[in-house]
Amino acid sequence: MNLNKTYCNLCPNGCKIDKKSQKGLCGTDNNLRIAKYYLHAFEEPCLTGDKGSGTIFFCGCSLRCVFCQNYPVSRNITGKIISVEQLVDIFKQLEDMGAANINLVNPTHYSDQIIRALDIYKPNIPIVYNTHGYENLDVLQKIDRYIDVYLPDLKYFSPTLSKRYSGKENYFEIASKAIEFMVKKPLVFDSNRQMKSGTLVRHLVLPQCTSDSKKILDWFSTIKDNAYITVMSQYTPFGEIDDFPELKRKITKREYKIVIDYLISLNIKNAFYQQIESASDVYIPKWDF
Ligand code: SF4
Repeated sequence: MNLNKTYCNLCPNGCKIDKKSQKGLCGTDNNLRIAKYYLHAFEEPCLTGDKGSGTIFFCGCSLRCVFCQNYPVSRNITGKIISVEQLVDIFKQLEDMGAANINLVNPTHYSDQIIRALDIYKPNIPIVYNTHGYENLDVLQKIDRYIDVYLPDLKYFSPTLSKRYSGKENYFEIASKAIEFMVKKPLVFDSNRQMKSGTLVRHLVLPQCTSDSKKILDWFSTIKDNAYITVMSQYTPFGEIDDFPELKRKITKREYKIVIDYLISLNIKNAFYQQIESASDVYIPKWDF
């Protein structure tokens, strides 16, 4: 986990590179890059507060789904390089603006720099680790004491699907173990129903994938008392999907209803779900850098 070594172990890709001079599969080297920071009004109600979630979008991604909704950011096409000290200043700015939390979006490959920043200044609002779920346990163990809320995706159950859309046959195996670690964080809400500690899993329903979504919910039901889940309908065709005709449409009302009915049948009460109208590119942020 030391970026001075020539072997980066910050995610399960385990690139054998020197990040001082080379970029890994995440598309990043040792430079800390961000695309945007702002008060984000469209997170789950328990993370948004009155003024929004203090969201920081980090550039690059170690998972690189073909349908990525934040494509220019995940591919490190956009963004600007900042120092650890500038990241500290952003924490302070967001906190002063009344952010409900500091929401670190796709932080995995910058976890060393983020820990350095949080060692300099730990905000007095929850720190949210917002991840695709493809995480190394030892990295989570290292950052855990700085994190209040985990916000992991759980994208696929099927190895065939995860291989097809993210190039990782072992996605569920890795992500489910990571989430089992995360849910040890106790669930705590304040009197305004704001999440102060705990884990909120996100699952985006994809076109033609209701069977896979049901398997995700079956698995989630084994931890349903220790975490929340959001079932998301907002999939919007985007990214590198020319070779994936099935991804060139939004999900249908029927597909979403199948998944939500199944969620209800499993008696999963710690759940949020979206309106089907959420599938709109207005929810995709405009990048600042
Ligand atoms: S964080 Fe990036 S460089 Fe490091 S192992 Fe993962 S993909 Fe490779």
